[in-house]
Amino acid sequence: MTESPAAETFDYVVIGSGPGGAPVAANLALAGFRVLVLEAGDEPGGPVYDIPAFHALATEDPALRWDYYVGHRADRQGVWYPRASAVGGCAAHNAMITIAPPDRDWEDIAEVTGDESWRAEHMWRYFQRLEGCRYRSRRFAGDSGHGFDGWLTTETADPQPALRDPELLRLILAAARTANKEGRGSWLRAMRWFDPNDRRLWRHAAAGIASNPLATRDGRRIGARERLRDVQRRCTNLAIRPRTLATRIVIDREHRAVGVEYVEGGNLYRAAPEADAALPLPERRTVGALREVIVSAGVFNSPQLLMLSGIGAHDELEKHGIETLVDLPGVGRNLQDHYEISVVSQLKRPLRVLGGARFNPGDDSDPAYREWRAGRGAYTSSGCVMGILCRSSTVASDEVPDLFIFGAPADFRGYRHGYSRVLTEDSRRFTWIVLKARMRTAAGSVRLASADPRCPPKIDFGYFPPGEPCAEQDLDAMLDGVRFVEQMNRRMGERIAARVWPPEQVQTTEQWKRFIRDHAWGHHAACSLPIGRKDDPMAVVDTCFRVHGVQGLRVVDASVFPRIPGYFVSAAIYMIGEKASDVILRDGGAASFGEKG
Ligand SMILES: Cc1cc2nc3c(=O)[nH]c(=O)nc-3n(C[C@H](O)[C@H](O)[C@H](O)COP(=O)(O)OP(=O)(O)OC[C@H]3O[C@@H](n4cnc5c(N)ncnc54)[C@H](O)[C@@H]3O)c2cc1C
Repeated sequence: MTESPAAETFDYVVIGSGPGGAPVAANLALAGFRVLVLEAGDEPGGPVYDIPAFHALATEDPALRWDYYVGHRADRQGVWYPRASAVGGCAAHNAMITIAPPDRDWEDIAEVTGDESWRAEHMWRYFQRLEGCRYRSRRFAGDSGHGFDGWLTTETADPQPALRDPELLRLILAAARTANKEGRGSWLRAMRWFDPNDRRLWRHAAAGIASNPLATRDGRRIGARERLRDVQRRCTNLAIRPRTLATRIVIDREHRAVGVEYVEGGNLYRAAPEADAALPLPERRTVGALREVIVSAGVFNSPQLLMLSGIGAHDELEKHGIETLVDLPGVGRNLQDHYEISVVSQLKRPLRVLGGARFNPGDDSDPAYREWRAGRGAYTSSGCVMGILCRSSTVASDEVPDLFIFGAPADFRGYRHGYSRVLTEDSRRFTWIVLKARMRTAAGSVRLASADPRCPPKIDFGYFPPGEPCAEQDLDAMLDGVRFVEQMNRRMGERIAARVWPPEQVQTTEQWKRFIRDHAWGHHAACSLPIGRKDDPMAVVDTCFRVHGVQGLRVVDASVFPRIPGYFVSAAIYMIGEKASDVILRDGGAASFGEKG
């Protein structure tokens, strides 16, 4: 392909500013390189962004969101899947839960690829480097593995609102007794909580009640955007261009990525609720990358960009009239998610934890808002009051727990338009969410719907593929999670008036399985451009994040995991972002890092 030279050049061009792209861009800039970040979304801000308790409102904010409509199965299509498009990526609207993955997940990557640098021992150092832990004392942390000086501050929400609510405390105690399998009298022992970011825990694969670390600073959201803006204040060589949609990676005759083609303007991508499909595509421009292009556009958009640039399965590209530069059949395959299902109860008495909270952004007469401005109160929490790590019957007793069950004073049945307004309308509702981690199925795909870079791709998760024994095991595991919730709820006795979701008619194993198949959802999509050995035909990138068959092109985001790590994926993505910057700097010459950094 012949390309005319770009008018403008940077050392590195990073596409996307989420948890994958931000650390890479920040560290390369700090090392003295000229870095450009292209971000399709706008600069987020204001109470909807800042306030942890408003994260559901953020997922529905038209200024922040990209709406994808995905397939779960052949008979369940068009399901809304929220993503954020903004400086900071989905960290601009996510629930901020920050839990590093168990050691086992990193060991698996090291074993599959034979690359020792992915061993947990190495990977944990990246967590230490980025974490600024504020909920444990440095003095007593011992060899917990926490970091205290990193940019990503972690806190736990103000416990006072929960402690002031006797009904919520009863729920928590009932759950604790079920989780810790303690007798009625020993409530003190039943209330043992552990810190899921204490690495010692993962050495013996513990289970039980977990505290809930959040990526916040003084009760305010913090993440990829704050990292980028902070580094930009400190060095002039980081440029961030919001409202800029990358349309193609420019690859020369020698199969080297030399730049990025893009268009400027907001709401150009048609997943944006305010996109105008009738508008013509603005003039395409090109920026040159003297060293490398790093694709961090997220699990759906990174494979789309690769395919638009001629990297993907030849048959797929041919259908859309795209010339194949590298025939990589794994592009867009292996898509996975954590599946979740919720059980919503109607309590006899209202919960007081949310007090008079109005959930009205910027409302100065809202007492909860005033408390939050002082760094306290219910709004410092993203909603989860308790998390329980446990094993389903489908994993061995010495294996890492495969279920994370968490509770919230809300009515949450999954993502559907308008859900954020319904969540806290009735203070007598409480939801337990069963999240299945370590899924066995990997049947999803991201395929081009069109060669037009503004058109979202076709996304199919292939939930519970029929006839696959591993899908049946995943379903059984989720059923175990639901039964666990039923046990917790039984301990509440008559304090629970009714189960409102699923409807009471869902009782038998078969009915529950059908319900899970029909209503499970996810929001940790990953693995669409997996790391793998060179001899693995479905691998897309190597262990140094380099795209097979192209020089100067890497992918660093949720797409690259072969399996989804941990229970909440963003900590793992930040960790690989840190790792990628080390690898890139090493390849670019450690000397340059020393000289310029
Ligand atoms: C509702 C919700 C709640 C969540 N809660 C949690 C949680 O509590 N804890 C947790 O650990 N995880 C959570 N997650 C998941 C986590 O936030 C994401 O997995 C993570 O942000 C993914 O990071 P990423 O860098 O791969 O991509 P993203 O965060 O998706 O960032 C990609 C960025 O690239 C930009 N982009 C895409 N295409 C282009 C293009 N062509 N040109 C320019 N820019 C482009 C996008 O606008 C976006 O800003 C949640 C996710 C959702 C949706």
